[in-house]
Amino acid sequence: MLNSISETTSEVSAAEYFRLSLAKLGELQLPTTPVNYALVYYYVSGEDIELNDQLDKMFANTANWSEQQASDLFSQYVCPIVGGESMVLEQELLLMVAQVLGMVIDLTGKSAVSSESLESHLEQLASSKKPENVLSIASSIIAETRLFVSETKKFESSLRQTTVEIEQLKDKLDHARKQAKVDSLTSLHNRRGFDAALKEAIETHKIGQHDFCLLILDIDYFKEVNDNHGHLVGDKVLIGIAKQLLNQMRGNDYLSRFGGEEFAILLFGTPLTSAFTVAEKLRRTVGLLRLKHTATGQKIGKVTISIGVACYRPNESGENLIQRCDQALYRAKSLGRDRSVIAD
Ligand code: GH3
Ligand code: MG
Ligand code: MG
Repeated sequence: MLNSISETTSEVSAAEYFRLSLAKLGELQLPTTPVNYALVYYYVSGEDIELNDQLDKMFANTANWSEQQASDLFSQYVCPIVGGESMVLEQELLLMVAQVLGMVIDLTGKSAVSSESLESHLEQLASSKKPENVLSIASSIIAETRLFVSETKKFESSLRQTTVEIEQLKDKLDHARKQAKVDSLTSLHNRRGFDAALKEAIETHKIGQHDFCLLILDIDYFKEVNDNHGHLVGDKVLIGIAKQLLNQMRGNDYLSRFGGEEFAILLFGTPLTSAFTVAEKLRRTVGLLRLKHTATGQKIGKVTISIGVACYRPNESGENLIQRCDQALYRAKSLGRDRSVIAD
């Protein structure tokens, strides 16, 4: 039924996800609340590994399923930005999901009644010997079938409309979710985005054993830039350096603002020696910049960076990789800054 109304690719996937979500809710015997439905919808669409990990844990023991936990997961993963537009989107989505559930339940009810009366007509038909009775039973069956078909058509058309609206809302939500992983000052990925990318890289490594390395870059004596030129100029320097780093990225390299004046880069398919070469190239590029305050022409001068370089070891945790890389960065600082150091 749900598949038959689908025409465009997005409708096909939305309709298929509806079907799979309802089946999953039934299989787990979870209440068909809009929040549960929305979580399961994202689960079957497999868009967020982190959300699926959390849900797998909850699905393993649905006896402990609580509405509060479900609602927390919804706020964290489905609508991560609290307040403003996202809240409105959240309400709209829930309302629409509730509407679809209402329609599905409605139609299921109608089809059950219809098939029951159909069965009783068929029994009468089997036991009837008189031709005029057969004719009248047959015309009842036709009338009921017509009614059912017309109700089904109405259902299909409103479901088609709702499916399109849900797809549009989903796009808006996806946009809001992406924004939650962007740093507002530099427009690079933020720490949240980095954590997700690292987690995914580790998962992928388990399957394919593809090398990847981590660089953590920290601007040297950045506090002095702020102290000498003000915080706003400091912000501009951060933006400028982010841009320079971004220009040097290749292919799948993942550049993020790790925190304050620190950046983290994931280099995929890259062995340690090549990662060190990349680090040195980035360090030289930043060191060659001669920054100037655009409004006043005041020289800010040379800014240098120190870099820790670490290659992921099989089965190592993300925290451990970051810690080793951080230690290498710390050594670069204590050896005099403006250098790259390879982690132990
Ligand atoms: P080191 O060479 O040891 O890294 O010295 P540092 O001065 O760079 O390090 P420290 O940790 O002492 O200071 C970091 C500075 O970065 C202090 C903080 O105000 C500044 N900072 C962090 N985030 C921002 C930001 O978003 N904008 C600006 N302007 N400054 C920031
Ligand atoms: Mg720092
Ligand atoms: Mg610093």
